[in-house]
Amino acid sequence: MKEIILAKFGEIVLKGLNKNTFEAQLLRNVKRRLKPLGKFDFWKAQSTLYIKPLDEDIDIDGAIDKVKKIFGIAKVARAVAVAKDWNAITQAATDYLEDQLTCANSFKVQAKRADKKFPMGSPEICMQLGGAILEKFPHLTVDVHNPDLVVNVEIREDAFIHAGAEDGAGGIPVGTSGKAMLLLSGGIDSPVAGYMMAKRGVAVSAIHFESPPYTSERARLKVEKLASLMAHYCGAINFHCVPFTEIQEVLRDNAPEELFTILMRRLMMEVAQRICDKEEISALVTGESLGQVASQTMAAMVCTDNACRMPVFRPLIGMDKSEIVAISRKINTFETSIEPYEDCCTVFTPKHPKTRPVLSDVIAAQQAFDYEPLIQKAVENTKIYTLNAF
Ligand code: ATP
Ligand code: MG
Repeated sequence: MKEIILAKFGEIVLKGLNKNTFEAQLLRNVKRRLKPLGKFDFWKAQSTLYIKPLDEDIDIDGAIDKVKKIFGIAKVARAVAVAKDWNAITQAATDYLEDQLTCANSFKVQAKRADKKFPMGSPEICMQLGGAILEKFPHLTVDVHNPDLVVNVEIREDAFIHAGAEDGAGGIPVGTSGKAMLLLSGGIDSPVAGYMMAKRGVAVSAIHFESPPYTSERARLKVEKLASLMAHYCGAINFHCVPFTEIQEVLRDNAPEELFTILMRRLMMEVAQRICDKEEISALVTGESLGQVASQTMAAMVCTDNACRMPVFRPLIGMDKSEIVAISRKINTFETSIEPYEDCCTVFTPKHPKTRPVLSDVIAAQQAFDYEPLIQKAVENTKIYTLNAF
């Protein structure tokens, strides 16, 4: 039987004049993500993208898994396509869904007649097909309120039969909301922040600051793995690895200890922005959540943002840790995030960081040393490479 994937558009359907741009970007994203699995045919009609495998041996489960992680798609169904012929439809419904119909105790038929030329109306389709199913599977009862199985029939260019759609990733297509640079550490929060921006259509690049030998290669590999896991949702990630040791050592030796973290954060922002300028990226993203730790107070964020020419998006700002953890589990980054490797933020951290740094003190402390050559060197020695979903 010929199987097909139906991907129903999400928020795009509400777009007005620029709907085509969103749909075109979504199609590009779907094509790119499915390419490694084989050849498919794609077409769209009535807010649905049809994805038809062209090779015999295509892994449809794998394809569905990928499609469910593409932003812009609200629902995904795996269906069988048959001619709009009543016998073919009943035959296909009972054959294709045989296993589910055998296991279920109750069912109902749900019909959608998008092709108004089809001679039967939806109620009639439900009644007739329900009857045909009961004849073949006499153990079943019809339950319209709470059935074990919903047999869906959609009459479009063909008739599509499926056992219900699963939730897609929602959001809007990556690439329709500009580009941003995510400050990616090895923790739980920043991968979630990147996911949330990508969900709203942002093409996310990542920048990671490492401080060898204080941080190990395994710590960096962990962050690269996080980026690869994020790529399942965000698409391939342009990864920037900044050598940050020298800046941290100079800070340790020159800056007031209690301002170390805030100055480090400002210098991270400065390096990140220079790389953004080169790559025409217009915003920064962090995984900060208000009040979570000493460096994430409002006063600290005021001091950080003072060093920024670009907007800094903090999509987790109002979230509790438990809410962030729930998302990180959902997107499969949690188990990697909790691997116990050091981060450069934990190197030389002061015992008593200022929770309410005063901006003028912070600026004065930064001006007491010429960081410019170090910033330039860090930018120059940044390694850039692409990380794909694996
Ligand atoms: P996370 O769980 O993302 O590590 P956190 O709660 O540990 O966050 P901090 O360590 O204070 O918080 O870092 C706050 C934010 O600063 C991070 O979410 C991240 O965006 C950025 N950041 C911290 N360390 C690094 C790093 N080594 N490289 C890049 N960005 C970093
Ligand atoms: Mg951290």
